[in-house]
Amino acid sequence: MLIAVTKDANNNILPVAYAIVDEETTHSWCWFFYQFRHFVAEDGQLCVISDRHKGIIHAMENLDEWKEPFAYHRFCLRHVRSNLMKSYKNSLNNEGVYRIVTKLQRSETGGNTHIVQYFQHSCTCGKWQMKRFPCSHALAVCRHRGDNPISIVNFVYYTDTYRKQYQYAFTPLLHVEYWLEADWVIEAD
Ligand SMILES: [Zn+2]
Repeated sequence: MLIAVTKDANNNILPVAYAIVDEETTHSWCWFFYQFRHFVAEDGQLCVISDRHKGIIHAMENLDEWKEPFAYHRFCLRHVRSNLMKSYKNSLNNEGVYRIVTKLQRSETGGNTHIVQYFQHSCTCGKWQMKRFPCSHALAVCRHRGDNPISIVNFVYYTDTYRKQYQYAFTPLLHVEYWLEADWVIEAD
């Protein structure tokens, strides 16, 4: 699905146009941009903020109605940051050890230091090891690295695991009348 969104006066995301296409290709993006210009925003200058998908770049560079000064293309900083973190992941922090200092609250709590061992899935707060679910410190590191948070959640939380746990039927114990007669007795010492 290709989608164009903008922000409304309340700073909330407002969808403007979308299209279901078979694939995200240069051709489909060009088609989408063409339709958008001719049926949604015919006049006026537009600024397009997107990731660096080749199809979007191609459409912005080659369709006359999307060239400057009719439209300007800028890259989304979140994507730029995420690409950068991915490319330099190893050189940024080889060991995967991070020091997290929590924010000092008005109630004078916080201001604690925790060490996150990202690849070992552990944090000095202990929650990550205990619950196998990333603590807030681990999530901060995950965000800093531009990783997908799902990648650091233990498989025990996956729906697949949950389904496997319940795939077998539970056989309840029969009524005492159906119990077999024992051919032995228990004697106390
Ligand atoms: Zn922690």
